[in-house]
Amino acid sequence: MSSMTDETQTNEALEQWKAEMQAEHEAAIENPDPDEDHRIEGVAQVSYRVSFTYDEESDELQRAETEQVEELADPELLSCSCGVRGMTRAEARTHVVAARNE
Ligand SMILES: [Zn+2]
Repeated sequence: MSSMTDETQTNEALEQWKAEMQAEHEAAIENPDPDEDHRIEGVAQVSYRVSFTYDEESDELQRAETEQVEELADPELLSCSCGVRGMTRAEARTHVVAARNE
C-alpha cells in the first residue's frame, strides 16, 4: 500500500466524517428538541483604545482613559440555549422558526 493510497483513504474518511457532522448539524437545526428552551445567543467583542499614565508613587503604569474604537457588531456564529452551536444567522433563524412551529 503506497502512502498516496493512505492519504486518499484518510481524506475520504475525513470527508465522510465532515459530511456526517454537517448532516447532524442540519438535523439539529431543523428538528429542535420540543422539550428544550430555544434562545439564540453569541459572544461579541468590542475593541477599546486604552491609554496609561505613569504613577511615580507606585512606579507603575495605570490605566487612564479608554476609548471605544469600534461599534458592537453581531457575532458571525450563533448558538442556541438547547445546545446547538456554530449556526450562521440564517441557520439560527431556521432553528427558532422550526421550534416555534412544533
Ligand atoms: Zn435550540
